Amino acid sequence: MSDLLERLRERGWRMTAQRRVVAEVLDGEHVHLTADEVHARATARLPEISRATVYNTLGEMVSIGEVIEVATDGRAKRYDPNAHRPHQHLVCSRCGTIRDVHPHGDPLAALPAGERFGFTVSEVEVTYRGVCPDCA
Ligand SMILES: [Zn+2]
Ligand SMILES: [Zn+2]
Repeated sequence: MSDLLERLRERGWRMTAQRRVVAEVLDGEHVHLTADEVHARATARLPEISRATVYNTLGEMVSIGEVIEVATDGRAKRYDPNAHRPHQHLVCSRCGTIRDVHPHGDPLAALPAGERFGFTVSEVEVTYRGVCPDCA
């Protein structure tokens, strides 16, 4: 589990009913939902929750570093609660399923100094693409 709810509680995040529902919807492993998907799932639990509240709550979770935004294939941005363990993504090019994966070694170290053009590199994003077992 990503323990998103627990992490938010530990840092003293003000937990309203709306915020709790958004956090519950996002909690779990391999969760990468669009804002609209979060909203759809949240309304199933709390019918009166507005899209604006969902968007604002997601934005706050991102700004405090408990949720990360993932962009794949020019599709809508996805929200990922696995914010504290560096990981890469394995994406099915047919159905769009995304799994969190943890390649061996430090991907930053894989870029030789001569290929850095003087940049101070702080982050690496790697996407592994293929076809998932359900689509194969
Ligand atoms: Zn698939
Ligand atoms: Zn992820």
